[in-house]
Amino acid sequence: MPHVVLPREILPTDGRFGCGPSKIRPEQVEALAGRGAGVLGTSHRQAPVKNLVGSVRAGLGELLRVPAGYEIILGNGGSTVFWDAAAFGLIERRAQNLVFGEFGGKFAATAAAPWLEAPDVRKAEPGTSATAEAVEGVDVYAWPHNETSTGVATEIRRVHGDDGALTVIDATSAAGGIDFTIAESDVYYFAPQKNLGSDGGLWFAAVSPAAIERIERVAASGRYIPESLSLKNALDNSRLQQTLNTPALATLVLLDEQLNWINGNGGLQWADARTHESSDALYAWAEASPVATPFVADPADRSPVVVTIDFDESVDAAAIAKTLRANGIVDTEPYRKLGRNQLRIATFTSIDPDDVRQLIRCLDYTLENI
Ligand SMILES: *Cc1c(COP(=O)(O)O)cnc(C)c1O
Repeated sequence: MPHVVLPREILPTDGRFGCGPSKIRPEQVEALAGRGAGVLGTSHRQAPVKNLVGSVRAGLGELLRVPAGYEIILGNGGSTVFWDAAAFGLIERRAQNLVFGEFGGKFAATAAAPWLEAPDVRKAEPGTSATAEAVEGVDVYAWPHNETSTGVATEIRRVHGDDGALTVIDATSAAGGIDFTIAESDVYYFAPQKNLGSDGGLWFAAVSPAAIERIERVAASGRYIPESLSLKNALDNSRLQQTLNTPALATLVLLDEQLNWINGNGGLQWADARTHESSDALYAWAEASPVATPFVADPADRSPVVVTIDFDESVDAAAIAKTLRANGIVDTEPYRKLGRNQLRIATFTSIDPDDVRQLIRCLDYTLENI
């Protein structure tokens, strides 16, 4: 069966709408061949790479507007490895984990480590959000800023539980795309291959003085902590503008370029306005459509960076995604384990709102002609 051929004039300039890995702007790739060429393939213990790490840390501090005393730390392995590092070196006795999708659930599973008390897991249905609640004996409150698997965004508000309890936020798909107040969190961690439009392999975290104190205390407690998963190790190395072992230099160059771009355009407020412009257009389209609806029913829960749209039974969403893919518009499939008749579209900062408007024209054309 010949697929629908979308007219050229309605195609987006860039067809990448995946939620991670996500669109990397051509200017970043050019920077890799330009200024990047001087550092790729050189020692990460020498000044050029250390300066690059320093620039990324400073750029993240500027983007996130970190208060005095907060530090940016980094390590190898992405957000998944950060969960293990947190189970070893951040959770003292017990975590509370909000779970309303795949990624919140994965951290909850990691927080169920044998040397910790079973986490207090607060579950909510996919497409909705859960709220943290102060509980005695909990020393880490953890949830995603943006649940990438469902397109639900949350408010970042500190939980006032036991003295010294930490608020720990997975910002992997939110960082640099949703405005918030970082003083409301103690650990704001992410990998850079989603909204920050870099490549994978590293994790970053903005940590508060209370979180630094916790990291130091757990590290000194005698608990067994593997070297590569030690947050104390990451903290000490980050202060020296390096990582314990070799980092992905290309990821750092791409990220540094992206931070310069966002910060140079007006920072987090600018990025937030841009992601809202894109996502608002898609939500409005879905609400007006006779066959589509936003998956996230409560507008207050709807993510500005990951838009999930359900289709009724008269439409095969997988066939739409397939048609789009055949026309160069890729990765609009839903999160695989969610199992819905759905499209999931990233509206990250890198994605041009004009391209989102073009995508909407392509959706209309496909629905009429499929
Ligand atoms: C993608 C994602 C992760 C996992 O990131 P990796 O770097 O692949 O480990 C964790 N949390 C959220 C919210 C994500 O979107």
